[in-house]
Amino acid sequence: MSSKKPTAIITSARYQDHQTGRHPENRSRAVALHELAGKLLTEEADRFSGLDPVEVDLARLEAVHAPRYVAALERFCRAGGGKIDLNTTVSPASYDVALLAAGGLLQGVDAVMAGEAANAFALVRPPGHHAVANSSEGFCLFNNVAVAAKYLLDHYGLDRVLIVDWDVHHGNGTQDMFYDDPRVLFFSSHQYPLYPGSGRLAETGEGKGRGYNWNLPLPAGCGDDVLFRAFDMLLEPAVERFRPQFVLVSAGYDGHWRDPLGGLNLTAAGYASLTGRLKELTATYCQGKMALTLEGGYDLTALTGSVEATLRVLAGDTPQAASRADEAGPGPGGYSPEVSLLQDIFHEARQLHKL
Ligand SMILES: [Zn+2]
Repeated sequence: MSSKKPTAIITSARYQDHQTGRHPENRSRAVALHELAGKLLTEEADRFSGLDPVEVDLARLEAVHAPRYVAALERFCRAGGGKIDLNTTVSPASYDVALLAAGGLLQGVDAVMAGEAANAFALVRPPGHHAVANSSEGFCLFNNVAVAAKYLLDHYGLDRVLIVDWDVHHGNGTQDMFYDDPRVLFFSSHQYPLYPGSGRLAETGEGKGRGYNWNLPLPAGCGDDVLFRAFDMLLEPAVERFRPQFVLVSAGYDGHWRDPLGGLNLTAAGYASLTGRLKELTATYCQGKMALTLEGGYDLTALTGSVEATLRVLAGDTPQAASRADEAGPGPGGYSPEVSLLQDIFHEARQLHKL
């Protein structure tokens, strides 16, 4: 047994009980990830520790969501569920599972804050980053990452929390909730244009929160290298300036080249490298304190390979070693967007944020 702290994996078979039928965000994602977690927890028990999630307290949830919305969602689910907005479906158990998703991430946060785990990954569903204060949106019921950020501010009394969102879609709900709050730096890289339509460079925050909202809208097909540059040229100096006390990650894997919804042409090895970069940054600024929560990712091979690669880097593997388990491979590659277009995006981001 090594004396090194383990990486906490939050996993539960109950995440399969949010039934959405024929929908990209369906229970098979939770089945595949629960199996992956079981394998790692059994075979590498010295490096990973499992946490069984409990439901979030309503007070924690209602620190970011309107109580009327929470109550309405509960009623709608208990009454049998169905389509609750344009693209989100719920079943009778969905309300409870959504409480368990937000609660799962908070347990990861607690384990890291207590020093019991080096870092944590909550393999939850439903995802959260599109959910706004008073409504579900885009497969999301409660904004798990926002609940966790608010928890770190309120319960632990932190002053500076960084949220990195590498899902292929813009985390509009998260942006909304902290748009005027300088205690939360939100950094989202996403394909643009794409659902939900927000996430322009010029959305930098308002009031005291101006300058604490970073969007990096990227053209389809841009690939791993562009994300690496975004992290190195934009996220790193942003973090250096902000000096976060904790890092939360909205970890979506729908930017993978196999994904049916996104088209950023990323790979499992790419996600492993992004995780490695974040690990280095968190080691420098907040003793490695980091908790990830699952957002999108709708191709099961891409999802499991990328999540495994991420978990292995969190547990100490090099990104190169961690991505060996990936079965999806490097993808077609070959396409890269106009270099000048990317240069313009990066240049404008640096100017807007006075780097
Ligand atoms: Zn997404």
